[in-house]
Amino acid sequence: MQVTRNKVVTISYELSESGKGKLEDGTLDYLHGFRNLMPALENFLTDKKEGFSGKVEIGPRDAFGEFDRNMVMTIPKDQLEKSEEIQVGMQIELESEAGIIPALVTAVAADSITVDGNHPYAGKTLTFDIKVLAIRDASAEELAHGHAHGAHGHHH
Ligand code: ZN
Repeated sequence: MQVTRNKVVTISYELSESGKGKLEDGTLDYLHGFRNLMPALENFLTDKKEGFSGKVEIGPRDAFGEFDRNMVMTIPKDQLEKSEEIQVGMQIELESEAGIIPALVTAVAADSITVDGNHPYAGKTLTFDIKVLAIRDASAEELAHGHAHGAHGHHH
């Protein structure tokens, strides 16, 4: 069986920043052809067989986007609720034109805080080291939902 649209694919992956260190690893089930993975990764996996393993490098534009300086913002504390509880390293939610976005607190000053709303992997060139562990036909329910169910899939 090959990785094609409407198959549920189990992969294990190790994700690293190219030329630097490992970022994360994991195992997941996903429904192929439904943009559950980034398109560059789905393209790489298309037509691969069970047991395949290989590496693919994906630039920021096809991964989590370029680092956007405008997403780093300094906010006066008097515009924030419970500002006295905010510490470096916390995630807070910001309202933006694109809706609520999570932002990482990167600095706290006497009367303001600085947050970074970029995805943690924005601006990074990523290398995925991937193994295709299993491939199966999706169930009618999975196709209707547009995602995989099961051990490493979506839980309701
Ligand atoms: Zn579902």
